[in-house]
Amino acid sequence: MNYYSLNKQAPNVSFKDAVIKGIAPDKGLYFPESITPLPDSFFEDIQNVSHHEIAFQAIRQFVSDDIPDSVLKDILKDVLDFDFPVVEIEDDLATLELFHGPTMAFKDVGARFMAQCLGYFSLGEKSELSVLVATSGDTGGAVANGFLGVDGVKVVILYPSGKVSDIQERQLTTLGQNITALQVDGTFDDCQKMVKTAFLDEELLATMRLTSANSINVARWLPQLFYFLFAYKAIKSKEKEIVFSIPSGNFGNICAGMVAQCLGMPVKHFVAATNVNDTVPEFMLTGKYNPKPSTATISNAMDVGDPSNFIRVRHIYKDDYEALKENLSSFAFTDEETRNAILHIYDSSGYIADPHGAVGYLGLKKYQEEHPDTYGIFLETAHPVKFLDVVEDTIGKSLDIPPQIEKVMDKEKKSIRIKNYAELKDYLLGGSNS
Ligand SMILES: *Cc1c(COP(=O)(O)O)cnc(C)c1O
Repeated sequence: MNYYSLNKQAPNVSFKDAVIKGIAPDKGLYFPESITPLPDSFFEDIQNVSHHEIAFQAIRQFVSDDIPDSVLKDILKDVLDFDFPVVEIEDDLATLELFHGPTMAFKDVGARFMAQCLGYFSLGEKSELSVLVATSGDTGGAVANGFLGVDGVKVVILYPSGKVSDIQERQLTTLGQNITALQVDGTFDDCQKMVKTAFLDEELLATMRLTSANSINVARWLPQLFYFLFAYKAIKSKEKEIVFSIPSGNFGNICAGMVAQCLGMPVKHFVAATNVNDTVPEFMLTGKYNPKPSTATISNAMDVGDPSNFIRVRHIYKDDYEALKENLSSFAFTDEETRNAILHIYDSSGYIADPHGAVGYLGLKKYQEEHPDTYGIFLETAHPVKFLDVVEDTIGKSLDIPPQIEKVMDKEKKSIRIKNYAELKDYLLGGSNS
């Protein structure tokens, strides 16, 4: 299986090279050359198949021979060692909980899979590979955790000083080993700019092997299709048409769900639910794609004004606006609506949703008003405890701290403060020589 660049100005590459490069030399996102549907029997028998086997069958064609089957199976066993429960909270409405992994956000799946793939590709390489990643919160923790202890790979995480939550900062800064956290005097945008500058710095690239771990990497994007299949397995017996509502920021998660649909999974419709960063809802209404600067919200992992994976979403439906509309609706919600939803869900069912999940719930309700005969699943993308202040404040109750979070609460935070790109470069050059 080869991958081509969506900008069509770069050579096709193998899975391995797509993972190591991250983005094509023409700055395009990589996309698989073909997606072959799984046999009907796969979906007929899915209830008798284990999560590990489902994942293996689904991802195998995308990895092809770059990783031997036995190694791929071991990787999947490691990546998928936690639960993905589907919890029904109303008639014909359930949530798919994606927060049972080590950092309690869905990004654990993609980050762990990518880390294991890079670890495998680094075997026998003489020089270390450095992974550079900027984070506004959840990505850094998942990447740090996924890459912890992976031989031959060193991870450098940039985060904006004072702009991530205490829990998120602890997840980044308390691991040690091959993980270093750089605390940047600036915003998330400043962090991202520094990372981009590093990838274009010839002097740096001449001395070290550098890659990124953000969601455009195919090894982070594609494994996210697994849990759509797990959800299908869980509710197949309902014998209803299925709608997935995905709280969306960079649109990688929803795009992976659409790949599951290309593999043959029966899905009636996708809903992309967003906060007030409504570039895509507006596009679905007007047909005009108008990116804008992001606005801060209580569902901050979705504060994205120009979603990087939306180009893949459009590509899946062959850039045909009508075909896209058949398969996708997109709605935006304010913080006030989100808080009201958290409270409503709690009052009516006792379920505690996080702000991102609550946005997903709202999107699903809106779609089901017009399509009542469907079975709806919204994705709970993070554990509510990660957004402790907002959630406790909204429902007026304190949350229990789960063991994954408890574990980092009393560890010492360690980070290096940097102010500008020159200091980042100094650190990287010094680090690679030691
Ligand atoms: C990253 C993230 C999202 C957005 O996912 P995309 O794949 O970027 O659309 C939603 N919720 C949470 C909690 C996240 O961490």
